[in-house]
Amino acid sequence: MTDQAVTTIATEKVNLLDFDRQGLRDFFAQLGEKPYRAEQVMKWIYHRLEDNFENMTDVGKALRAKLEASCYVGPPKTLFDKGAADGTHKWLLGMDGGNAVEAVYIPEPTRGTLCVSSQVGCGLNCQFCSTATQGFNRNLSTSEVIGQMWVAAKYLGNVTHQNRRITNVVMMGMGEPLLNFDNVVKAMSLMRDDLGFGLASKRVTLSTAGMVPMIDKLSEVIDVSLAVSLHAANDELRTELVPLNKRYPIDELVGACRRWLERKPRTSITFEYTLMKGVNDQPEHARQLIKLMRRLPNCKVNLIPFNPFPGTRFERSGAETIRAFQTQLLNANVLTMLRRTRGDDIDAACGQLKGQVLDRTRRQAEFRKRLEEGASHAA
Ligand code: SF4
Repeated sequence: MTDQAVTTIATEKVNLLDFDRQGLRDFFAQLGEKPYRAEQVMKWIYHRLEDNFENMTDVGKALRAKLEASCYVGPPKTLFDKGAADGTHKWLLGMDGGNAVEAVYIPEPTRGTLCVSSQVGCGLNCQFCSTATQGFNRNLSTSEVIGQMWVAAKYLGNVTHQNRRITNVVMMGMGEPLLNFDNVVKAMSLMRDDLGFGLASKRVTLSTAGMVPMIDKLSEVIDVSLAVSLHAANDELRTELVPLNKRYPIDELVGACRRWLERKPRTSITFEYTLMKGVNDQPEHARQLIKLMRRLPNCKVNLIPFNPFPGTRFERSGAETIRAFQTQLLNANVLTMLRRTRGDDIDAACGQLKGQVLDRTRRQAEFRKRLEEGASHAA
């Protein structure tokens, strides 16, 4: 099956979670049904989180039978879920035979954020990222992306437009979302759609490692917020940490961000910066970041203390260093936030989403080899 293909089951029934509003209307037209019927069913799926046509009581019996015969509402299967003491909740969701991804819910006093994955694993190999050690298998379908939100919303008792437990979604889980462009855009349109989860544009954020041409394309097709995984403000260090920087260096990335801001003048972009001890946390790094942020007025920096994982060569910066780095930025009038580490007891912090990846890049094998070499060098 291609990445763009809708998810089907053995009987070739269609998964309705693969359709955005227009897709659903088209499908209903094929069934000989009026568009408003598609919208009626869409409300059942996303507002009432109903996956059983039998329970869609205002849908006529004949249509229910037609739907039963031709389609289904198929969110991913929860293989495992776990809550942390601070209210963070994590789901491991089965995508097919051997693959699974993670979604994480992070409650705060004024909002609840769901972090969603876009690929099984990731091919970009950022050096400080736990997902990267697992290699890459495939893109997720639209139903597999929006299905993560559907599962979390059902578990949390989310009611669209009334009792929003999920107020924000960030595409920051496993994978580079802009490398799964069509499926991610469709899923985000369902997050935004009034008949879907009905979230405002500033509450749906896509985070990219810097896929420059796709940033431009994204700004043309959907209204969402943008975050960029920066982690270093000089090309040499950024290429080491985020190898994609070799293809799209900082100048090109800043150019794409400036074009984004020109198209969406009332928005801002968040730049994520993971602080690693002795790597990118020194005063000179802060100075480079300040210089870069001067080219991007009204944008924000989100400082993230690194979350170590087994086998990584990086360490979290000390509390003093983090404070000094933040102060240096604030003193230069760069809007800077420090992300509190959440869900520590369930490995749900940023960069720690692991899932289960049938690796097609053989990166897991290389990673294991490196670990073994490291262990024998230490011995
Ligand atoms: S940080 Fe993001 S883009 Fe980089 S390897 Fe990890 S998941 Fe992929």
